[in-house]
Order: sequence, then C-alpha cells, then structure tokens
Amino acid sequence: MSKHFVPENLPTTIQHYIGGKFVDSIGGETFEVLDPVTNTTYATAAAGQKADIDAAVAAATTAFKKGPWPTMSPRARAKVLYKIADAVVAAEDRLAEMETFDTGLPITQARGQAQRAAENFRFFADLIVAQHDTALKVPGSQLNYVNRKPIGVAGLITPWNTPFMLESWKLAPSIASGCTVVLKPAEFTPLSASLWATIFEEAGLPEGVFNMVNGIGEEAGDALVKHPDVPLISFTGESSTGQLIFRNCAENLKGMSMELGGKSPAIVFADADFDAAIDSTLFGVFSLNGERCTAGSRIIVERPIYEKFVKAYAARAKNIKVGDPHDPETQVGALVHPEHYDKVMSYVEIGKTEARLVAGGGRPENLPEGQENGSYVAPTVFVDVAPDARIFQEEIFGPVVAITPFDTDEEALELANNTKYGLAAYVWTNDLKRAHNFAQDVEAGMVWLNSHNVRDLRSPFGGVKASGLGHEGGYRSIDFYTDQQAVHITLGDVHTPKFGA
Ligand code: NAD
Repeated sequence: MSKHFVPENLPTTIQHYIGGKFVDSIGGETFEVLDPVTNTTYATAAAGQKADIDAAVAAATTAFKKGPWPTMSPRARAKVLYKIADAVVAAEDRLAEMETFDTGLPITQARGQAQRAAENFRFFADLIVAQHDTALKVPGSQLNYVNRKPIGVAGLITPWNTPFMLESWKLAPSIASGCTVVLKPAEFTPLSASLWATIFEEAGLPEGVFNMVNGIGEEAGDALVKHPDVPLISFTGESSTGQLIFRNCAENLKGMSMELGGKSPAIVFADADFDAAIDSTLFGVFSLNGERCTAGSRIIVERPIYEKFVKAYAARAKNIKVGDPHDPETQVGALVHPEHYDKVMSYVEIGKTEARLVAGGGRPENLPEGQENGSYVAPTVFVDVAPDARIFQEEIFGPVVAITPFDTDEEALELANNTKYGLAAYVWTNDLKRAHNFAQDVEAGMVWLNSHNVRDLRSPFGGVKASGLGHEGGYRSIDFYTDQQAVHITLGDVHTPKFGA
C-alpha cells in the first residue's frame, strides 16, 4: 500500500470545457492519467478528436463573432482579468498540491507558480489599458492610424512542465487582446488545467471565450493546428513537434508563435564569483526536476577553476534531496511520466559511454515507501564532456548536466554556440567588457549575466535557431494576437490618373 499524498477531492474523470460546459468526448474516447510517484492511473481524461475540436472552435468562433468580449473596452476586459488573477492567487494551495501530484514537481517549487500565473493576467490587463497605437500625419495630405483588432480564435498548445503557469503565458495575452481561445493542454498533466474553467466563469469571462479540449497531441492537437477557422497557433513544446506543426500551419498560412527546446550553456570564467556560480548553476539545471526549457544543462568552465568547480559541483549534486514531491524538504521530485523517465535514463546510459560520471547516474537510493516505482532519477553530473557527445548536443530535459572545460574566450564562445538550439545562455564573469561582448556574440534568445533565469514580464522571451520562432512578452504578445490594420484618411486632393478618360 503506497503512502503517498493524494490531494482531497481529486477528480477521477477530466473533461473538456466547450461553450461554457464541461463535456466528454463526442465519441466517448478517453485516456488514462498517471501520477508520477506510483505510476498508476488516478484519473481518466476525455481524449479529444477532430469532432471535439470542431465543437470547441465553433463555440470560440461564435463568441468571437457575436461578442461582446472582442469589442469590450480594454478597461472592462481588464476588470475581468484582475478578477481572474485574484482567483488564481486564492487557488494557490490547491493548485500547488494538484500540480505537484500530477507533475512530480517539488511542492516548494510548485507554490510560487500561482503568483506568477496571476501576475501574467494583471500584467496584460495593465498593458491593454495603457496600450496606444500609432497615428501618422502627412501634413495637408493624409492622416493614417493603426486600428488594432484581435485576430480571432487562437489555438494554444502547451507542454507538461509547469503546465498551469505556461498555460497562463498564452491565456493571459490572448484573452486580454480580445481573442477567443481553444486550449489543448499536455496529455501527461491535464489536472490543473481543469481549474481554469471555473476561475474564468466566476470572474465573468463570457461563455465561449475560453474552451479547452484535452487529448493526445497527434489527435486533438493536430486537429486544432489544421482547423481552417483557427488563424493563430501558439505552441510551446519540443523542437521536432514545432517543425511538424510549422508544416501543418503552412496549409492555411497561420500565424505562429513557437517556444521550443533548449540546451542552454552556462559559461563560468575563472574570475567569476565562484560560490554564486555554483549555487546558480546547480539551481539552473536541477530546479523543476531539470524539466525546464531554459535549464543551463551544459556548463562550460574555464580551465584554471575547472577541477575545483567539478569537485564542488559534484559534492553538492550528491547532496540534493530527491524524494516525495509533496515533502517540503524535497529539491528534486519524480519525473513526469514513465515514457519521459525512460528517455532521460537512456541519456544517462549514453552519457556513461561518452564522459566521466561524477554524481548520480541512475535511480536514487532510499526512495520513499510506496514510491519505489516512481519516476525518480538521481541528479546526474557528467564531466569532461566532448562537444560532439550526444549529451552535449541533445536536450535531455531531466536532472542531468554536462560539464566541459575551456581555455580561451574564443573557445568558450565556440562551445556555447555549438548546438542547434539557442534559447538561453548564462555568463559568469566579473569582467564587464567580456560579459557584454559575450552576450552580443552568443547565439541565444536570452542571456543572463551572473544570474540564473529571472525575468521581468516586459522583456522578450524566446529562442533563436531550433529554440523558437517569435518572442512572447510584453507588447510582443499583444502584437501576436492582434492585427494592426492601417486606416488611411485623405486630407487633401489625391492625384488619380484618369484611366479610360
Ligand atoms: P511536446 O512537443 O511533446 O508536446 C507539447 C504539446 O504539443 C502537447 O500538448 C502535445 O500534446 C502537443 N502535440 C504533440 N504532437 C502534436 C502534433 N502533431 N500536433 C499538435 N500538437 C501536438 O513537448 P513536451 O514533451 O510536452 O514538452 C517538453 C518540451 O517543451 C521540451 O522540449 C522543452 O524544452 C519545451 N519547452 C519550451 C519552452 C519555451 O518557452 N521555449 C517552455 C517549456 C517547454
């Protein structure tokens, strides 16, 4: 008998939410949802098919065409968004325990997420109220102004790492902009997404503005991507899935925003604050169980401090507390799903053939009673990793890090840029010139100097190369969900050639 924590009143069935109602799949299809500490089924979720997506898109289309949401004043929409934010904060404890139960994230790390999700709604509420658009004057001749309009039904497809928070990244700006939406949450973690419907309903979001279809990516996700009445797809997930969605969006020339995978470097120069770099690079890869798109999963360390760094890093990694995600002492919990666990473990085995293992390398010892089958991986550190090693090149998305030495600034840059990805980079040095020059040259959408990932919501978020297309954050998100129609007013005479006169 397992002794793991199970939140009270957990649903045993998870439904879609279409046109203001919780519903099953039209054809009755379902899939099973596992908890990651026992890997047993705790709920059955509706598995959306094309017919369910059609129904959700129809509801969203009606809500968009008939209104009132898309044409409400920004202030009126902002009032609803503020109520949503308050409701998300009020649900913080419930959300955290659900998220931890469903994803295996340590409870202390799941806790802050409601605050961040709520902040997204407040932030975009403020932004739409403060929004002003360009007017251009050509004296005596023309006045042009930008008429910003929500585009229509937005398809939102999200991954399973920090699911609720990542959903808020797309829900807040799309709804704030006046779009109506169909959300397809990740199939590994559908639990917390079911909170949105009630939160939105109680905050007064009109029926049909938010719709959600659960299901498998290749079924529900694919149908959403291919639906002709969905002009926008905002996707966060793996680069290979992004490539496929890109191809499928081409048919209808859809607008796309793609936040994809990463293999981000943390570059530690010998002059860096050593202790701060150790703390930060440990947190950068082992927080959120390593299931983090911006994880600094390749650490590149300057030779004079390399051995000292490796020794200190390995000692701390061995000391990380792995265990029951609901235990507040836990620093690394269980990976989300056995399929993902198998993938991460396969990289651990590959790493053993490619590099020197100095911490972890398998399942942790002393797993909590009743959780012996959980998807646990010990924090794993490989060192002396060559740049052509698979564990240097490929995204593992788990608690596994590759450490590599370098001798010169040029070599550090070459190593940092030597993957197909370009999401984030972390640079550790006390030399101001070097820090800024390195930031300029590194191929990454986001760079942190002497820090791990901390972001103000106004800053662009996104990657280059195989890590993404377009940026989210601030007005960039509003630009994605709105069309900037140019209205031209003639003030003077217009010269019109008289064809056929
Ligand atoms: P995934 O690509 O497997 O799935 C993401 C979503 O896409 C899921 O909802 C899935 O059902 C859906 N999907 C799968 N196939 C589809 C298809 N053919 N058509 C439409 N939808 C489809 O990714 P994942 O394993 O859930 O998430 C982990 C990945 O996400 C990692 O690569 C990580 O780096 C990336 N990620 C990126 C960011 C970022 O902002 N750049 C943030 C978080 C996660």
